[in-house]
Amino acid sequence: MSDLLRSYLRDNWYTAPGDGRPLLDAATSEEVARWPLAPVDVPPAYDYARTVGGPALRSLTFVQRADILKRLAAHLNERREADYYPLSSATGATLLDTKFDVDGGIGVLSAYASIGKRELPPETTYLDGSVEKMSKDGSFAAQHLYTSRRGLALFIDAFNFPVWGMLEKFATAFLAGLPVVVRPASQTAYLTARVFADMVGSGLLPPGSASLVCGPADGLLDNLSSQDVVAFTGSAETAAVLRRHPAIADRSVSLIVEADSLNAAILGSDAAPGEPEFDLFIREVFREITLKTGQRCTAIRRALVPDGKVDAVIAALRERLAKVVVGDPRAEGTTMGPLASLAARTQFLDHARELSKAATLVIGDLNDPLTRDEKGAFVRPLVWRADDPDAEVVHRVEAFGPAATVIGYTDAADAARLAARGDGSLVASVYSYEPSFIRHMVLGIAAFHGRMIIIDRDDAKSSTGHGSPMPAVIHGGPGRAGGSEEMGGVRGVLRYMQRTAIQGSPRALTAVTGQWVSGAPAVSDTIHPFRKNLDQLAIGEQLTSGPYTITPDDIAQFAELTGDHFYAHTDPVAAAASPLFGGIVAHGYLVISRAAGLFVDPAPGPVLANFGVDHLRFLTPVKAGDAITVQLTCKDKKPRENAGYGEVRWDAVVRNQDGRAVATYDVLTLVAKSS
Ligand code: NAP
Repeated sequence: MSDLLRSYLRDNWYTAPGDGRPLLDAATSEEVARWPLAPVDVPPAYDYARTVGGPALRSLTFVQRADILKRLAAHLNERREADYYPLSSATGATLLDTKFDVDGGIGVLSAYASIGKRELPPETTYLDGSVEKMSKDGSFAAQHLYTSRRGLALFIDAFNFPVWGMLEKFATAFLAGLPVVVRPASQTAYLTARVFADMVGSGLLPPGSASLVCGPADGLLDNLSSQDVVAFTGSAETAAVLRRHPAIADRSVSLIVEADSLNAAILGSDAAPGEPEFDLFIREVFREITLKTGQRCTAIRRALVPDGKVDAVIAALRERLAKVVVGDPRAEGTTMGPLASLAARTQFLDHARELSKAATLVIGDLNDPLTRDEKGAFVRPLVWRADDPDAEVVHRVEAFGPAATVIGYTDAADAARLAARGDGSLVASVYSYEPSFIRHMVLGIAAFHGRMIIIDRDDAKSSTGHGSPMPAVIHGGPGRAGGSEEMGGVRGVLRYMQRTAIQGSPRALTAVTGQWVSGAPAVSDTIHPFRKNLDQLAIGEQLTSGPYTITPDDIAQFAELTGDHFYAHTDPVAAAASPLFGGIVAHGYLVISRAAGLFVDPAPGPVLANFGVDHLRFLTPVKAGDAITVQLTCKDKKPRENAGYGEVRWDAVVRNQDGRAVATYDVLTLVAKSS
């Protein structure tokens, strides 16, 4: 008898009583592992995650958490081929399928490690947008702030991506500072559990930050509270059950749903056989039917094709699909493995029969002897032609396997209408080189999709393809697809945090955020701030310098030096006629260059470089004779990891002799950590 899968609760491995039920190899029906049937006592594990894991994670900054993700990815990467690939074969995955799941999952960890280091601050909170001024005198303002929730993230995963499914959720929730509880889909849990065990074995995870539940799903949500998040991936039916659970319906536990969808691929009316976009369409539809044996939530289920090209598309697909070799993924020459289980095949064939009542099966055979193999969940690709493009079944039934329906459309408006009949999908792809068709399609159906991809001759080689969710891009979709989003760079992290609008005086906001807010008290010192290293520099440290009177000669020389002879700086008649200027004005860049001359302390010192400005605005024209003064305030400082310096953001305001702001911006400098 194979091993009973263990749970990992309260930082300990736990073996459930009983023998459990066998989990079988998708191709051979040999026993791979056993799945516990006894209920798991989750409430104490949840308490432990919240009270031990939560504080441990929240004591780390985003950047420190990102560093753990990076090392975790390296740790798993070393075990990929020897340990995970063979187990992945047991799920029915070919090597190519495995790479999408295993390598793809580890890739998401690495990508989020980079996103965390590059785009998140070395802090535990995240500021959303800039300060909103809420009173005329500047004494009342608001800042949106994200903080870590005090609960846990429960992941309920689908069987088809046992590694990627766990890791894409883990990367974002972990960065957000939320302890995670992983509940893998039973059918392929042996692979998830194996990767999870290595994550624990790495010694990198803070105590209580990760738990694994191997056992029945009943009761998983019963003890959740409003600070918790459930991230579910699976069928629309199970999602509907979860939505009705009292935790979600009555206690406002946050629920992220990544469900199924009837994703569409749309061949442009311009893409005739022989055109690159026609071939790319066939390539993608073929790939989406066969990759992971069609068991991808993002797979193309509906191929929308101009009426006159339906036969050509079916002929091209038939030719390519005829070469598919179905078999044990470990056998030489196999290009498509079995479905994940015999039960999954039964369900697939039920849905295929339902589709056959509404559409004509033009490729494949429901009575293929292969589909009666008693040990392997083999099936061959199936393609239907929708004789009635509006047949309801075609837009509703997801046959979760190597299957798609070709649907004819009359014109672009009809294609958009049919695509929208999926009632909300994860992704739609468009194959066209005609700008008006592309624009019509995207604007027509974007509201029904979480992601759209336009594949043409220009991006054919670099495109990541219809079915691949990428860490930088959101994954999810409205309506049937679940109505949620995952990943999408920083967005995916924030999804697990709480956003709060903090309103108060600039002084109070500075105290909360650690960033100087205009209007808060500032300090000045006899030592120039550019002579101070990162540790010595205080938030709110301010330098006021000036005045300097701009001369006509400055403006003329600046025009000569830069070659910027725009009429407002050089043509008195035209400048006088301008309703904006009413005469010659200084270049905005002259004003900020001269302001730099006022605040810079030139000798070598802790300020190493200026690396840019943010939010630059020219507010009031400056004329010859105007006297400008600059006020520079240390707004924020961030040490860079593994570098001898950090970033300092200075709030800069240039004013004229009347005290009116003429330019505002943030100056960005690199400052040495120590002298
Ligand atoms: P499923 O039957 O809905 O199961 C999904 C998960 O929910 C499994 O872990 C399952 O556990 C668990 N579950 C079932 N009933 C539950 C309950 N009452 N309470 C809590 N958990 C419960 O889906 P599946 O067959 O595993 O996966 C295939 C489906 O997932 C397809 O429809 C596919 O399109 C969709 N999918 C979507 C995405 C996406 O990102 N949008 C990704 C992959 C797959 P057991 O394993 O114990 O049944």
